[in-house]
Amino acid sequence: MQVTLVAADQDLQASITSMLETRGHEVTSFAQAREGLDHLERDQSINAFVVVNATDASAGAEICWDARLLSSFERPVYVCLVAPPLSSQEFIEALDCGADDVLQLPISADELYARLRAAERLNQMQHKLIEMATRDGLTGLYNRPAFFQRAATLCAEHGAPFAGVMADIDHFKAINDSHGHAAGDRAIRAVADCLKSQSDIVGRLGGEEFAVLLDIGDPAEAWRKAERMRRQIAMQEIDLDRAAVNLSCSFGIAIGEPGEEIDDLLRKADAALYAAKRAGRNMVALYDPDTMAVQPRAKSVVRSAKTSAQRRAAG
Ligand code: GH3
Ligand code: MG
Ligand code: MG
Repeated sequence: MQVTLVAADQDLQASITSMLETRGHEVTSFAQAREGLDHLERDQSINAFVVVNATDASAGAEICWDARLLSSFERPVYVCLVAPPLSSQEFIEALDCGADDVLQLPISADELYARLRAAERLNQMQHKLIEMATRDGLTGLYNRPAFFQRAATLCAEHGAPFAGVMADIDHFKAINDSHGHAAGDRAIRAVADCLKSQSDIVGRLGGEEFAVLLDIGDPAEAWRKAERMRRQIAMQEIDLDRAAVNLSCSFGIAIGEPGEEIDDLLRKADAALYAAKRAGRNMVALYDPDTMAVQPRAKSVVRSAKTSAQRRAAG
């Protein structure tokens, strides 16, 4: 595991570090609790926090409390207090302060290893559960609630400039009808991969509908990025059911105002998407409260839902 160790006693710090490293754990150790906690907060890969207090169990429990506050549903951290033998009341206090385990001094290496093995099992299970709760099983993109939660956090933390993008595959029903549902699933995955390459915050909101949050320098950049996604998808030949298929997506963009809620931003992007569909599909439309401007259609790449074979037959 990635362990942060806090131990004021130099000998204990050295011996526990060596015990942990012998078993392949990566350890960063500190004499001061504040430094250890800062490190835990900074480095999100740390998943175990061990605090050693040879003289004052209550002070050790308080540090456990601070470490517990830095863990969350999405960032599980195993917290362990190492202390001299405790009274029953002190033991309860340590657990109530957020310690997952309390180990007695003098520390037994085998017991420490066994506790960390149990912690690692739990940690892996929690990560699996987090993945299942937040990811769409077909594409690996964020699911609807996770997308909204992450996008809302980013908008609140960093404010504008952000752009919300809504994307929907054009005439997707025709893909399912011509090639079957499994082929349709492959098409959804191909579009998802393309969107993923442009942003870290991409969600599958349902069926063949996606949302993207773009971090942008200026409104023109949102346009350029959405247009790049549109073009990539329209140019890509997707191998389905032994046929190469071209499909397209329509995009709606809205540029975030400072302090704007993600729900409002995506509602505007959705209105723009609707305009792109109405105007002929395979295009990017930008939400403008007055005009709802729509980019002219790129005729050369409009081949929605037609297979290469169909195109050849049509001459
Ligand atoms: P438009 O250009 O107006 O968006 O037309 P469309 O045919 O893409 O839109 P519509 O909403 O009528 O069809 C979406 C279809 O997507 C209907 C549904 O059967 C299919 N669908 C929804 N979820 C899935 C999925 O997970 N896998 C597959 N293969 N199809 C899905
Ligand atoms: Mg569609
Ligand atoms: Mg749809």
